[in-house]
Amino acid sequence: MREPSQLDELRGLLVGGGRRSNVVSGNHVMETAAIHFRLRARVDPDRALNALQHYLAALWQNGQILGSPTPIARARAGYSVFANLPAMDSLNRRHANRHVRRALRALAGAGFKAPKVQRLGADPEGIPACRCRRRPFLILFTTFFHEDSPVRCGACFQPIPLYVFPATGYGGDHYDILRWMSTYQAVDWLWIGSGAGEQFGHDQMARHDSPLSKDGRDVAKTLARVSRRPVFYRLTKALARSYRQERARKCPSCGGRWLLDQPLHRLFDFKCDRCWLLSNIAWDVRR
Ligand SMILES: [Zn+2]
Ligand SMILES: [Zn+2]
Repeated sequence: MREPSQLDELRGLLVGGGRRSNVVSGNHVMETAAIHFRLRARVDPDRALNALQHYLAALWQNGQILGSPTPIARARAGYSVFANLPAMDSLNRRHANRHVRRALRALAGAGFKAPKVQRLGADPEGIPACRCRRRPFLILFTTFFHEDSPVRCGACFQPIPLYVFPATGYGGDHYDILRWMSTYQAVDWLWIGSGAGEQFGHDQMARHDSPLSKDGRDVAKTLARVSRRPVFYRLTKALARSYRQERARKCPSCGGRWLLDQPLHRLFDFKCDRCWLLSNIAWDVRR
């Protein structure tokens, strides 16, 4: 396992990587909420729990709640669920897709009253959602400790809830983005853990032609099509021989020049507008 200080440093860089908004309006803060599901008397408990789990999965796949699985507590007359929301109004019905609406109807059919949302407060570790009017491009971005949406705004580098975008997955949801995110996080853990799979993890994230990067770039292309703007994919590099050699790196996909004069969002030293790729000077030689 890497030293805690190293992790904290990396964490600080990644979390604080973007320019924070000057003023964060309430609605865009990531919030922790309890959702209470009350049951009418005499219902089939298995059917009820099943319907509840389907509803939570549908919310997650639409980006309305973050993190999976979500803690559930048996409560008086039903269940309580604790979830992080990308923004305060994330559970508003106007953000629901057809799967969420169908799961909500099934919830009523299984004996639940309408769910009640109790706002517990802002998540102190959460990154506020993007509020930009214009987003010139997007970035697919996650790490092993990020729970928020893996779609970042290219202008402010803050996350954009997935439900903002039309469906990208075959099933009419955003499962393709979430599946890539989970795989990326698992691979990032292999690298961070510094044990079995360390080199494998590094290469999956650093190489443009690794299975992980190919999958991520396919997801980025689909998102670009539905959002009608470029979606950049980030190649993370940690290991290199020298700073000089790193600066001389060319885009691995087209061989073109991609070194930026100033790092983008303090994180990306390289950007190829032709291939929609971002990367950094390897962490171990970066100044
Ligand atoms: Zn933004
Ligand atoms: Zn290129």
